[in-house]
Amino acid sequence: MTPNKNLLTDDFGRTHNYLRISLIEKCNLRCTYCMPADGIALSPKADIMTAQEIYAIAKTFVHHGVNKIRLTGGEPLLRKDFPEIITQLATLGTEISITTNGILIDRHLEVLKANKVTKINLSLDTLVATKFNAITLRNQFQGVIDNLHLLLHNGFQVKVNVVLIKGFNDNEIIDFINLTQHLPLSIRFIEFMPFAGNEWDRSKMVSQQEILDLVHTAFPPADVEKLIDDKNFTSRDFKIKNYAGSFGIISSITNPFCDGCNRIRLTANGKIKNCLFSNHETDLLTAYRSGEALETVIATAIQTKMKVRAGMTSIDEINDPALHQDNRSMISIGG
Ligand code: SAM
Ligand code: SF4
Repeated sequence: MTPNKNLLTDDFGRTHNYLRISLIEKCNLRCTYCMPADGIALSPKADIMTAQEIYAIAKTFVHHGVNKIRLTGGEPLLRKDFPEIITQLATLGTEISITTNGILIDRHLEVLKANKVTKINLSLDTLVATKFNAITLRNQFQGVIDNLHLLLHNGFQVKVNVVLIKGFNDNEIIDFINLTQHLPLSIRFIEFMPFAGNEWDRSKMVSQQEILDLVHTAFPPADVEKLIDDKNFTSRDFKIKNYAGSFGIISSITNPFCDGCNRIRLTANGKIKNCLFSNHETDLLTAYRSGEALETVIATAIQTKMKVRAGMTSIDEINDPALHQDNRSMISIGG
């Protein structure tokens, strides 16, 4: 089939050249804002995409214009066949990156380098070991810190994802920014988002404005430099003058960035999610297994994407649990 250059463009002119694939629903942490307290019902193993299916489906997207792939999860590095998956995907010639909690980085360092992965997003919500144990329900702080330094030492471009929760880690915002004084890291503060079972509440969220107010009290205004945002940005980026790294704010709740959205998500069980906030899913794996043309299914998913946050245009709608309680937990979407 010849490439269809319109397949990945929606009614609002957004071209979806960035595919985020969740490899697994399982995780070796239990971050309370992500994994519901009672866990999640895992898909039967037979319903999870195999390495070969991931490759074949990704290849179709790449054929029609995807040029960026991110692997996520659950914890993507928990997949036993991760080396096989990344090695196959690397042959597609796109940029490949991963989002990980960092625990298994040391085991996979060589395969990441061998496949020219240079960009890693590592999630770390606190710089205090006891708080890490409390939010992740696991005792892995030092291993994550060591792996963060291992990545920097090996020349990877590292972004650190920090989900801010009021009263838990908002008092560490400046400590995280201070890390960028000597380390070439990009810290990304993420507004806490609602998903099934994560007990989201507006009052637990730290907003973009609150973060900026704090930054402006901690640093002289002339030292806080606004960086130029990418056209498909999720993070509005800043830098403290003369610091080695930078920081940014991902404000999906208070200041969404849907106009430039180029992201399309594939869950580990092969469903397309056209928006992180959408309850709706389109089953691509079943189509693949029954030999149907994937393009028809992909077109449906793209054409039904709404302009802003799956139709939740205001913060009042986000406050309404009825509008997001059916959305999968983040652990099974992949962020
Ligand atoms: N396990 C990997 C990790 O933690 O990086 C990849 C999957 S995780 C679901 C992807 C990203 O989603 C992480 O950076 C995580 O902090 C973020 N995330 C999870 N739940 C969230 C929520 N409720 N609001 C905002 N971000 C969330
Ligand atoms: Fe696991 Fe990542 Fe979710 Fe934490 S944020 S529970 S590490 S998937």
